[in-house]
Amino acid sequence: MTSRTRWIWLGDHLAVDFANTTIGLGVRRAELIGTVEEFRAWIEAEPAWLPAVDDGDIELGQVLEQRDATDRLLRCAARGMPLATEDIELINSRVRAAGVSRLLATVPGTSRLAADAGFPALLGVLGAATVDLLARDDLAAIAICEAPGCGQIFHRSRRNQRWCSPGCGNRARVDRHRHRNPVAGAVAAR
Ligand SMILES: [Zn+2]
Repeated sequence: MTSRTRWIWLGDHLAVDFANTTIGLGVRRAELIGTVEEFRAWIEAEPAWLPAVDDGDIELGQVLEQRDATDRLLRCAARGMPLATEDIELINSRVRAAGVSRLLATVPGTSRLAADAGFPALLGVLGAATVDLLARDDLAAIAICEAPGCGQIFHRSRRNQRWCSPGCGNRARVDRHRHRNPVAGAVAAR
């Protein structure tokens, strides 16, 4: 993927948006923030507030390490599996290192940081978002979309919702139909 990725799915919980920076199912997941430029494009497209950081201060290896830990934690939580100790420790260490205390700001629905600390604060805010999501007893109903080529984490708005979007639901239905009826599937795929 290039920095031309259109981040149309952002606007979810910040931890979900951060985890959803790869796309695809299983081993075929594609990296969407493999360069500082791509990560910058994600920061700019992300609607949630994030601390300002200079490109020169971004350690992409640390970003990806934390993204992978966040992704594993959310996927385990969505499947009702136990969370890995190493991943928990990584997230907690990033929150502690940043000392990110959120303070009230003047506009309802917004907040600010006690100190502007650049890159560590960015990782800390992303880590705090993961804590916030996974500390909820309902986990905000997070689930994994099983549509072909998707694999994104999303919030179920109904109990039995299986796809993150109507587009994914349509693709999954076409795919299922094709497997059941190869001739009809060939027509539908054109
Ligand atoms: Zn999907």
